[in-house]
Amino acid sequence: MSFNFLNQLPTPAEIKEQYPLSKELTELKKHRDAQIADVITGKDGRFLLIIGPCSADNEDSVCDYVSRLTKIQDDVKDSVIIIPRIYTNKPRTTGEGYKGIASQPDPEKAPDMVEGLIAMRKMHIRAIAESGLTCADEMLYPENWGYVEDLLSYVAIGARSVEDQQHRLTVSGFDVASGMKNPTSGDFSVMLNSVYAAQHPHHFVYRGYEVETTGNPLTHVVLRGAVSKHGNTTTNYHYEDLIRLRDMYDNMDLVNPAAIIDTNHSNSGKKFKEQIRIAKEVMHNRIISPEIKTLVKGMMIESYIEEGCQKIGEHVYGKSITDPCLGWEDSKNLIYTIAEMNS
Ligand code: PEP
Ligand code: MN
Repeated sequence: MSFNFLNQLPTPAEIKEQYPLSKELTELKKHRDAQIADVITGKDGRFLLIIGPCSADNEDSVCDYVSRLTKIQDDVKDSVIIIPRIYTNKPRTTGEGYKGIASQPDPEKAPDMVEGLIAMRKMHIRAIAESGLTCADEMLYPENWGYVEDLLSYVAIGARSVEDQQHRLTVSGFDVASGMKNPTSGDFSVMLNSVYAAQHPHHFVYRGYEVETTGNPLTHVVLRGAVSKHGNTTTNYHYEDLIRLRDMYDNMDLVNPAAIIDTNHSNSGKKFKEQIRIAKEVMHNRIISPEIKTLVKGMMIESYIEEGCQKIGEHVYGKSITDPCLGWEDSKNLIYTIAEMNS
């Protein structure tokens, strides 16, 4: 047999019992989830800002970063809801390299899945406790949902996963806002079909059980730019892209039309500083077009303490070891600008 079965993993219930979320923080999450849901359904006109490092590689620097957002959240509370990005799983373009803290709690050591599940849960709990903000993660491995379902306020499904049946079906059972990214090809219909799948009930196999889901009406799209057949990146955050998306949404039987704009990845071509200009352009288009304003309900920005990125082993505190990010000062200024442009 080609598989070598190394370890039986603890169940979500076992890990949750070992690392519980307090009653008080459970209430806080309920409150934030309801506010975020109100933005997605259009009852609340605030703007969602999913912001943080590409990968949450180090508990101390990630929690330091997230706690810095607390004061800003208070300053902008009337116009923006900040959802820190704590991504514990990293999809790799070729499958090679660092796969995130959930697989490799120490990026310089061998993978350890049991420790990884614990590290993922501990970091999310500490971030909530220290910042008062519940966070976002990517569900790269749908079967990990149970380990963090009581902690996350936002879930993304990545460009490489959005066409996959198991991801779509699993999202149909999530009870929080969930963003389906456009696939790397850029095809909007694949992305919208994925939203359709996740908004409807399903009956399938999950973690060794036969299960039923209710469908998740908070599922929406995330635009991350695309890669052409010649390998060039193309953007999809401009006025015309958003109007086209609006029309396509209108022609499908979907509830709560909503789009989040990912300002990095193929939209910036990973020229991370471009995120500032892209964010301002999107906010400007919301101002001039009521149609775009009701469609674009948030943004996803890659940001950390130090700008740019570094190689694993360089040990610069608060600097990304995957995609390049905006630094703290730029990020702070940009959040205030976004808040002003949504007031
Ligand atoms: C990311 O959000 O860091 C990411 C890898 O996104 P995508 O799935 O769009 O490539
Ligand atoms: Mn990234």
